Order: sequence, then C-alpha cells, then structure tokens
Amino acid sequence: MPPSTPDQLGRALGVLRLSLTARCNLACRYCRPESQDPPTLLTHQQRLKLIGVAARLGCRRLRLTGGEPLLAPGLAPLIQAVKALNLVEDVALTSNGVLLDRPLARRLKQAGLDRITISLDGADPQAVLRMGGGNSFAPVLAAIGHAQAVDLPIKINMVVMAHGNGDQVIPMARLCRELGVELRLIEYMDVGNRNGWRPQQVLTAAAMTTRIARHWPLQPMGRQPGATARRWRYLDGGGFVSTIASISEPFCGDCNRLRVTADGMAYTCLFASQGTDLKPALDLRQPDAILIRQLHSLWRQRQDRYSEERRSQQTNSTPRRSPAEMAYIGG
Ligand code: SAM
Ligand code: SF4
Repeated sequence: MPPSTPDQLGRALGVLRLSLTARCNLACRYCRPESQDPPTLLTHQQRLKLIGVAARLGCRRLRLTGGEPLLAPGLAPLIQAVKALNLVEDVALTSNGVLLDRPLARRLKQAGLDRITISLDGADPQAVLRMGGGNSFAPVLAAIGHAQAVDLPIKINMVVMAHGNGDQVIPMARLCRELGVELRLIEYMDVGNRNGWRPQQVLTAAAMTTRIARHWPLQPMGRQPGATARRWRYLDGGGFVSTIASISEPFCGDCNRLRVTADGMAYTCLFASQGTDLKPALDLRQPDAILIRQLHSLWRQRQDRYSEERRSQQTNSTPRRSPAEMAYIGG
C-alpha cells in the first residue's frame, strides 16, 4: 500500500504513540493511573515489529509514553534499536521525570533519544503535591537540569485544572522562562472515568494566554499541521510558550496519531470507544504482512473526531466519556 493512505477524513498516519507500561509512580489528579500492568506486555521484538510496520504505513515519528515509561524495562535498548534500524525520523519520550537522574539522561541521549517532554504541574512543592504529584517537585526540577546537561531538547507539559493549579500558570511561565524551556499548557481533558472531569474545571487556552500576556506580551505563531500545540513567542525574547487546547479549539481535522497500549491494543483516538487487539498479528511467527493489513484497514476506516463533536454538543447534554484511562492509552 502507499505509505500515506488517508483515513475517512483524509488524514494520513504520521505519529505512533507507544505506551510501555500502564503503571505509574505518581497519581496525578487528572489522570489516575493503573496500579498494575495488563497481564501480557509486548516484548522488545514485538515493539520493534510494530514500529517498523507503522513506519512502512507512513509513520515518521515515535513517542514513547505510559503510565510512566521510565518504570518500563528496556527503554534505552528500544530507542537504540529503533535508531540503529533507522525506523523513524524522530524518537521522543513523555515522562514525569521522577526517575531521570544524570546517568539515565546520558544513556537515553546516547541511545539516540531526540527529545523529551517532562510533566510538571506547579512551580513549588506544595502546588505539585496538591495535584497528586507527591514530593516530586525537587526531583523533577533536577531531571530538567539533567536533560539540559546532556543536551536533550526538552519541553514541559503542565495540565491545568481551573480550581487545582490555575494559580500556577504565571509561576510556571516564570519558572520555564528562567529555565529556558518551553512550557506547554494543556487543557484538562475528559479522558477515562476516574478523574471526575467537569467542564467547569477546564481553564481555556485563551484564558491562560491572556493571563500570561498581561505579564509578558505574546505574539501568536500558530499551529503546525498535525501538531497538537499552538505556539506563542514572548515579545521580550524570553522564548516560547504553547497551548494544547483540545477542549476549546480541537485539532481533530489533521490528527495523525495512532496510539498503541503496552499490551498491544491500538486506539485511533484518545476517545475511541474501543481498541483493536494487535497481539495476534504481533506474534513474531506471523509475517509482517498480516499486521500491515490489519493496521492499514484500521487506519482506512478511522473517522474519529471526538473533540470536535464534544464542542458542537449542546452545553446541557452530558458528553460521552472515553472508556479507557489516560495512563493506559498513553496520553
Ligand atoms: N507519565 C508520563 C507523564 O506524566 O508525562 C507520561 C504519560 S501521561 C498519561 C502523558 C501526558 O498526558 C502527560 O503530559 C499528562 O500530563 C497528560 N495528561 C494525563 N491526563 C490528562 C488529562 N486528563 N487531560 C490532559 N492531559 C492529561
Ligand atoms: Fe503518572 Fe503521567 Fe498519569 Fe501523572 S499523568 S499519574 S505522571 S501517567
């Protein structure tokens, strides 16, 4: 098949987000991870088979995620193998950073990791504690330093809950400007059934950038096709800040992401009502052609545009929740 076969809405596959574990060492209020992994996780060779096939179907970028991917054995060898086989152009990691010490940062960089996104929801220890991040403020701050020390390009993800850490938008913008890293402000999303999401808890991207611009004027830079983030430039030369506005300004129209869980379930949307089991086709005794056929047909049938549908719903109707939890699908 041609590598860029589009889905029902004309969107080509571009990014594979592969979760390495559903477990986490934190319990963020907006996420609520699993305490255990599913019984059968993909092996190193199965992950490579999946990434190779996704690449043949047009995937150029790989993001490794979780749960907390630094809890998963075999992370550095996986990155090394993907790079050695030249399967994709870009390998990124999303992590809470708690376990990222200097040797691990160096090992991941040497393995070929291209970039890292570290999550941090507040600019002081109490704010992070309040959001379910335990005592992770100091280790995460240190992790940011380790990534910078080994020259890993880094961005910071902050999920903003209006009544949880809405007060941290300005302190986090200040902290990230001081650290010289780009802050990505994420609207709180209705993924999963455990976090008790309510529309009132969403602080919109527009409200966040309005607040920031009062302190540091911003110039809008727009959103790259297929990207989740809309970028803004600080007019005083203080770098960039971005917003991920999946609630208030959905970007389903050019969504190019395929998500696969640690146990090999494929989701064509964060909010898909069900996943597709790839494990039989990922059996190493099966030829790649079977997995190619399965993924190709899955992508060709894809018509998810949940965030756009949510936005067009009446405000008094109850939105459908996604059945799978964020830490399982991988964010
Ligand atoms: N444990 C890693 C971490 O926190 O970075 C990786 C997995 S986490 C599920 C991936 C991303 O999803 C994180 O940046 C997290 O903040 C974000 N996330 C989790 N739950 C969310 C929610 N309900 N709304 C918006 N973003 C969420
Ligand atoms: Fe863990 Fe990441 Fe979920 Fe927080 S967002 S609980 S760090 S998986």
